[in-house]
Order: sequence, then C-alpha cells, then structure tokens
Amino acid sequence: MNDTITKLKDLLQNSDNIVFFGGAGVSTESGIPDFRSADGLYNTEYAYPPETILSHSFFMAHTEEFYRFYRDKMLYPNAKPNKAHIALAKLEEQGKVKAVITQNVDGLHTEAGSVNVLELHGSALRNICMACKECYSLKKILQTDGIPLCACGGTIKPDVVLYEEGLDMTVMMRATDAIYDADVLIVGGTSLNVYPAAGLITNYQGNKLILINKSETPYDRHANLIIRESIGHTLEEATSVVH
Ligand code: ZN
Repeated sequence: MNDTITKLKDLLQNSDNIVFFGGAGVSTESGIPDFRSADGLYNTEYAYPPETILSHSFFMAHTEEFYRFYRDKMLYPNAKPNKAHIALAKLEEQGKVKAVITQNVDGLHTEAGSVNVLELHGSALRNICMACKECYSLKKILQTDGIPLCACGGTIKPDVVLYEEGLDMTVMMRATDAIYDADVLIVGGTSLNVYPAAGLITNYQGNKLILINKSETPYDRHANLIIRESIGHTLEEATSVVH
C-alpha cells in the first residue's frame, strides 16, 4: 500500500463526518463512459454535439432525436455499482460518510446501499409526464421507441437536469450544508469544471480536502491530498481495514 493511500486511510479512520462529491469518473469504472470526454465519437452519428442534444431547448424542439441519443448513449441499464460505490456505502453504514453528492444520474450509489445521496443532476431512473406529473421507471424509456408517452398522452421527460435548466434548489442547499459542515471532503472522478456544481466545493471550511482524479483539476492547489489512481481501487484499499 503506498503512502497516499495510507494517509487517506488515516483520515477516514479518524473522521465520522466525511462527505463525498463525485463526478462521471466514479461511473466510468462501472462501464458508463463520460460523454463529455468523447465528443468526437458522436460526430459521425449525430448532427449535434452532446451538449446541444442534452439541452432543454433541444428536448422541446427535437424530442425524438433527443431520445435516440439518450437511449443510445446515456442509458446503461446493466451497469453495476463498482468498488467506489460499495466502499462509500460501507462508510455510510459505519456512520462515517454523512452524504454522497453526485453529478451522475445512474442511481448506482443508491443501488450500492448509500442512503443520503444528493443527485445534483437528477436521476435517469425517474421519468415524469410533463402534463400530469405521473412518474415512470427507466423500464418505460427502455421498452418504448421514439417519444415515450404517458397514459394521459403527455410526453415523458427524464428527471435529469438538462443544459439550460437550473438545479433543484433543495438538493443544492442540502449539498451546500453537507460540504460546509464536513470534516473530510473527498472529491472524486470529476475534473471540477462543470458549474454550478463544481462551485459547491468552495463551501468547504476544513483542511482535509482529498482529490482523487486521474487528471489535474483547478482545485489541486487547495487539496491536502491528491491521488491520481483509480477511484474504485483507492477507496477499496483505503477502507479495507477501517473499523
Ligand atoms: Zn401524464
């Protein structure tokens, strides 16, 4: 076990108020690619970049094309929680992790057993009729073609935050409070350049900021510990004997 993992392990062992803030890199180890890092891949298949397709105005104007991309590139119904999700759920069960804040919409933290999960960008597992607000599971999206319709005839929209849409203020406030109160803040699998979510971590008041990310982030100079390894491997190692 290397030095940084030993340091991380010490920090985790000595805290009962850890908050985790994670991005797409947490899910890539479950086989869910980060669409932001793969823009070029879609150029031949789609006439628009992912950021355009995943915007509110595009959804409203080209709902069918939105769903073609969304079903094809955004949904991974067979993905399973990885070592990172499992380690965080275990730490919460031990009373150490107080909140998991995520930018991912795949629901894998909840599936792994985490309870206090704050989904900044919503969840692909929830889909809501724009007319009557009836809620549908992911199955409804997967088992239909074209535009999924509610029993009432209304268009069903994924409960995920699209570009141009604001974040849920209740979730944002709970995330802000959790970070403000945190003793240890672990930021993982995010390059911290998606706002406003990334700005959240500026609320952290402590001196145990841990960044686990394969590439550099704008916050590296504020970090007390930087780990450039796989997040699943790192968290599994660091929690292997936490008691
Ligand atoms: Zn409806």
